[in-house]
Amino acid sequence: MKELHGIPVSPGIGIGKVFLYLDNMALEIPRYDITRGQVEYEWSRFTAALSNAVAEVRSLYDQAVQEMSSDQAEIFQAHSMMLEDKQFHEQIRTKLENDLQNIEWIVWEVSHELIQKMSASPDAYLRERAADIAGVSHYILDWFVSNKKTSLAALPDHTILVAHDLMPADILSLDRSKVTGIVMDSGGRTAHTAILARAFEIPAVLGLSGITKNLNGAEVLVLNGDTGVVIIDPDAPTQKRYEKARSEYQKKLALFESLRKLPAQTRDGHTVKLHANIEIAEEAEQLSCYGADGIGLYRSEFLFLSSAHVASEEKQFQAYRRVIKIMGNLPVTIRTIDIGGDKVLPGIQQANNEKNPLLGWRAIRFCLARPGFFKTQLRAVLRASAFGTVRILFPLISGCEELEQVLTVLEEAKAECRQKGQLYDEHIAVGSMIEVPSAALTADILAEKSDFFSIGTNDLVQYTMAVDRGNEQVNHLAQPFHPAILRLIKYTIDSAHAKGIPAAMCGEFAGAPLATMLLLGLGLDEFSMTAQAIPIIKHIIRSVTWEQCRLLAEKALSCTAEQQVLRLLEEHNLERIGHGKSA
Ligand code: PEP
Ligand code: MG
Repeated sequence: MKELHGIPVSPGIGIGKVFLYLDNMALEIPRYDITRGQVEYEWSRFTAALSNAVAEVRSLYDQAVQEMSSDQAEIFQAHSMMLEDKQFHEQIRTKLENDLQNIEWIVWEVSHELIQKMSASPDAYLRERAADIAGVSHYILDWFVSNKKTSLAALPDHTILVAHDLMPADILSLDRSKVTGIVMDSGGRTAHTAILARAFEIPAVLGLSGITKNLNGAEVLVLNGDTGVVIIDPDAPTQKRYEKARSEYQKKLALFESLRKLPAQTRDGHTVKLHANIEIAEEAEQLSCYGADGIGLYRSEFLFLSSAHVASEEKQFQAYRRVIKIMGNLPVTIRTIDIGGDKVLPGIQQANNEKNPLLGWRAIRFCLARPGFFKTQLRAVLRASAFGTVRILFPLISGCEELEQVLTVLEEAKAECRQKGQLYDEHIAVGSMIEVPSAALTADILAEKSDFFSIGTNDLVQYTMAVDRGNEQVNHLAQPFHPAILRLIKYTIDSAHAKGIPAAMCGEFAGAPLATMLLLGLGLDEFSMTAQAIPIIKHIIRSVTWEQCRLLAEKALSCTAEQQVLRLLEEHNLERIGHGKSA
């Protein structure tokens, strides 16, 4: 038995026999010299294979449109465009004339060079697009060499598909009733395989470099698509544990499915909103299956952190608009860039040159010191706001003057959009994150200039308790249920309500089942969390009364220490959720 850890990209438990899908394409491609007189003949073979490949991808697109969202199906449209790219054709033609070798070898070589160039790029986006080039060349090469696709259409029952890389077309051609999991050497959350695995609800763990080399195809594999754990040849107790987890997961899914379209409403009719936190645009695609009422936190810095270059206004605008379009009329809360601290932006900030980065040049402080950079992001958000319901959220606000400065820059960005004739939502809602104690304690003042609050408990706990959230040695000292934190949350919510604005929470506390009744009782209006937590939180909300929660919150506020609060909440929650402090 061997345990490995990869990137969890599609939730669920997979148990099955390994099917090794190895890419032997290079070995199968014949290579021979041709004469100059044969160039036109080879070229005609290329154009014939190309038009077959184009037709194939178009029909894959038609199939995909029937089976998944149009956004996901766009992968095939992108492949079709790449196939028809004139520059790609010219490269092949030039190499054919120069090297005088058979056309399938030339296609393989040109694509291979492109793939290597893109795989070595510092830009994560380009690195992941290398897989698309591989896919596109396979469509053409499949018309010359033996076609392997049939092998994926006829797999044995309970298969865990293990590959170095899979093409979107491979996933479409899979007999999905037979595949209980996907594992790959390559890939990450934004890889197309990941997107399609989520769309087809196949548990998947990617980025396990070298796993194909560790297997011979005779093994049994279990994988957890929520944690990224993969176990090769589990012993009997481990396999049993995973089988139990899988049946519990399936029961949970059935319960969650029944809750998906129901409101987050207590038994006595009090309704709150359950929003999702996302880091990358692709995550928005799966939110409707969890029943999210919108996006409460889009951590926009990930758009910058995934690339060696600063994202341009256009690139940001495209990413925001994509999320907004996926969400339809539901609200999308875009938090302006929160870098610094533990998230260093390459090329702009130097790692570790501050003694206390978490107390340093972070988030809104960085943006106010770089108004040009900040305004670029604000313009991108404003322009995207013309396409749906957008809210802007400012991180690490510490007081009223800082918020005023931010609002001045926002007005300047609006003026620039107007000057260029760019449309935006003039009444775009502006929110302050309450994650610094000074902001919580002046929430009544900040409420005058905010349209909503969002409490960031991850940082609020860190800064209130003086516990570095990333430091393993002191992590256990962080107490989200500490009376100080409860008082700061209560004061923030009460101040919001006194000014008639909603109070949201987007820190991990909002998705912790043990905190749900307490937060409801304190009057929280919106809970924003990792999407997977939404169903269980909704289940709790729908099984209690608001009256019950208000009484519980009152009692919790009179406790003198975290342990006392925890005991109180556990007594009330035990029969409902059956577990402790962590989310
Ligand atoms: C928080 O601090 O609670 C929060 C949601 O922001 P982040 O985790 O991105 O710092
Ligand atoms: Mg924070």
